[in-house]
Amino acid sequence: MHAPEDGAVDPREVEYVFAWRPASGWLGRFPNLRLILSAAAGVDHLLADPSLPPHVPIVRMVTQETAARMGDYVLFAAPGVVRELPALVAAQGARQWAPALTGRLAVETTVGVMGIGQLGAACAQRLLAAGFRVAGWSRTEKQVDGVRGFHGADGLDAFLARSDILVNLLPQTSATRGILHAGTFARLPRGAALINVGRSAHVDHDALLAALDAGHLRAAVLDVLDVEPLPPQHPLWTHPKVFVTPHVASTASVGARVRQAVASIRAHRAGAELAHLYDRTHGY
Ligand code: NAP
Repeated sequence: MHAPEDGAVDPREVEYVFAWRPASGWLGRFPNLRLILSAAAGVDHLLADPSLPPHVPIVRMVTQETAARMGDYVLFAAPGVVRELPALVAAQGARQWAPALTGRLAVETTVGVMGIGQLGAACAQRLLAAGFRVAGWSRTEKQVDGVRGFHGADGLDAFLARSDILVNLLPQTSATRGILHAGTFARLPRGAALINVGRSAHVDHDALLAALDAGHLRAAVLDVLDVEPLPPQHPLWTHPKVFVTPHVASTASVGARVRQAVASIRAHRAGAELAHLYDRTHGY
């Protein structure tokens, strides 16, 4: 195993790379590359390298730990939203005793999970166990136990109309970029909230702020931002209805990532089927 800065490595000998946000042109340095192991569940950071070889398969980093950690995050954020966490934090900052911020019940609340894949389905199960009603939206028709399923463009309006809390867990693709815009927010019930743990490119943040300021949306919990770290002067830091976290929703531990990488390389060398392969046709 070698680090990228290891000058002793002959690029022609490299068959496997484990990468996250490679420098532009880095992936193209290895003429005999056989497999790319993404260090994250999303692969947008790899696709940004114009030298990415089009024929080399990419394995996404999806471990049980990734799903468990994302479930933990969503189970902090969704109850946080129903119990008015952003408003309570703002009230505490202003030393205001605000007893009206009692929130609502989880059992009265439908969480719409946008992107009900590896992570979305795991989160849905955690939300159901916590008493929430759960709806899911996917590209293709999908059945997840206990989840009311919607799919495709035809199913989007009905899905949004019932989502008191919208959890975005879509991958970033040409079809999903910018999907959370003013029109999307308008189709959510009044008083709905957004939890974005997908990618910032899914969200028009100006439209989000406008929907929050107009009172149509009650809160937003944002883990992924256009510029990370979020610049100190950015209005999202201080907005009373926004709770920002620094892209911490789900990162698998080094151990879990290494175990998945080793398992993928072994499977590849044995000619076995690879799990969590990135699909170039659909972009995720
Ligand atoms: P996944 O298993 O590939 O699931 C993606 C889901 O999105 C699937 O249900 C898929 O539908 C749906 N989808 C894709 N394109 C769609 C479209 N055009 N319209 C409707 N539904 C669409 O992905 P995953 O492993 O759950 O990961 C999801 C994303 O989470 C990643 O891509 C990454 O961006 C994000 N993530 C964030 C963090 C963080 O710390 N914030 C950590 C890990 C991952 P089908 O079921 O029909 O295929």
